[in-house]
Amino acid sequence: MTEKAATLRDHLDDFIADTLSRCTRCGKCFEACPMTRYSDGLSQAEPKAVVSGVLDWLQQTPGNAESVAWLKVCTQSSRCIEACPEGINAMKMVRVGQMSAMGSLGVPAAHAAMSGREAKDFFRVINAFSETQMTSDEIDRWQR
Ligand code: SF4
Repeated sequence: MTEKAATLRDHLDDFIADTLSRCTRCGKCFEACPMTRYSDGLSQAEPKAVVSGVLDWLQQTPGNAESVAWLKVCTQSSRCIEACPEGINAMKMVRVGQMSAMGSLGVPAAHAAMSGREAKDFFRVINAFSETQMTSDEIDRWQR
């Protein structure tokens, strides 16, 4: 019997399961983000609640408004990766959250900013992201 080829969705599902199992919702990734000050929707946000909203998106459940605001302002500074005490790639967590919020994982798109102009560049951005955030094996699986 032929071994089933790994797909991008397999990779995403593995990443989501691992993140959900290890993330303690401490909020340190959000606290380290240099972009939150530029969003009115995040000025009073509780870090733990924002992360919980992002994890909702990873579970294909619409997250709270604060999580959407964070997904929108991410510029891939990678500060969140360095901040995570659990070794989770929090920037990738945000990127997968963006994919979900854009409607790419099965739930309706969350907002026009992600389903409009930015969507045209979505897959180009995802490919660029994959080259910088994944191992060579993961990139190979991503591009199959
Ligand atoms: S810093 Fe890591 S463990 Fe804490 S909320 Fe962010 S991803 Fe989860």
